[in-house]
Amino acid sequence: MRSRFLTLTAGKPRLESVEAMPASETSALTSLAAGRPDASLLDTILEDWSWHVRVSLGGRVRHGVTLRRVRANMRPVLTHILAALADRQAMRDFDAGGAAFGAAHHFGELRLQQGFQITEMLHEFRQLRREIVLQIVDTGGEAAESIALVRKIDDAVDRAAIAAAGSFHAIEVKTLAELVAQDPPTGLYDYGYFWERLEQEVQRIRRRRRPRGRPGEQAVLCLLLIDIDLFKGFNDRFGHLAGDLVIKRIAAILAASGRRSDVVARYGGDEFALILPDTPTEGAMAIAERIRAAVATESFASTGGSTARMTVSGGCAEIGAEEMTARELVGRADGALYIAKSRGRNQIVMYDVSMPSLTP
Ligand code: GH3
Ligand code: MG
Repeated sequence: MRSRFLTLTAGKPRLESVEAMPASETSALTSLAAGRPDASLLDTILEDWSWHVRVSLGGRVRHGVTLRRVRANMRPVLTHILAALADRQAMRDFDAGGAAFGAAHHFGELRLQQGFQITEMLHEFRQLRREIVLQIVDTGGEAAESIALVRKIDDAVDRAAIAAAGSFHAIEVKTLAELVAQDPPTGLYDYGYFWERLEQEVQRIRRRRRPRGRPGEQAVLCLLLIDIDLFKGFNDRFGHLAGDLVIKRIAAILAASGRRSDVVARYGGDEFALILPDTPTEGAMAIAERIRAAVATESFASTGGSTARMTVSGGCAEIGAEEMTARELVGRADGALYIAKSRGRNQIVMYDVSMPSLTP
């Protein structure tokens, strides 16, 4: 059963026809007027809303668990909307960085994760507006006041929908950009993204080098180049399809090797690059050694159900206090890689000044 009432005084919801209302509605309005919406009002609106959304979006909201999560996410959004009806100042919370904005942002994020279209999500907000209006508007109130309240509801719901749609869109753009920056066979970042990020990280170190930084605060970064040993021979013996599987497996080992902040990219055919921010030489060499050992002990599928052993070589270079461009850093790591190959492969070499820097 739906209750419809309106009690507005000076733009604020207020109790007037208390006697005519059941106790639950009284408390709902009292709490709304105080800017603290009552739990039962929230529940009623959310329940009706989920029912309408479920019916109108068909099978999209399939599982009970999903529905619970959606409602749990929508609840704080609704709380902020109702708070904004009682107190116009609360509308500020819908600005970027505000609590209402954050809640709507999470809702948009959740809906995107669940594969919703942006139009479907906006439809949900339209449905929410309808439920709020039905719950709060009193058909017996003054027409002008009713219109004013509906306007407020519209404003608040619009602000919430805009915040949710904004996050939905921003995450979608970011996901697309990441897909574009991907090397499809391995899922690692591609060559173009590698250079973009390396330039950014080198710039970041340059900025931290100059200013007020206290001694000991110097930013560092290591670059690691990893190349599969004698890979051409593997392809010749077992075929390129088996070779492709080796590349994928080694890419997975690399992706699992470091921290989330590391950038793992496919630099070229059988060569990979790892940007390790805030990692000095010792840390980078430890990561590199773990990678080398993991590859050397792995059994790679070859042909006819048999397996083969593979190794990788690596070259590492650090950028810290010394002024250096991204290209110079890559040249140094490449020079160290060249030394690792010439010393017999299956090893990681740290660049030092006695080595060639392969920068054209
Ligand atoms: P080294 O130890 O000196 O690196 O020897 P290598 O044989 O690995 O070096 P080389 O650069 O001569 O050969 C690299 C080979 O990697 C040649 C190419 O056929 C193979 N390769 C590059 N990309 C792919 C790929 O995507 N799939 C397969 N199967 N092979 C690839
Ligand atoms: Mg190679």
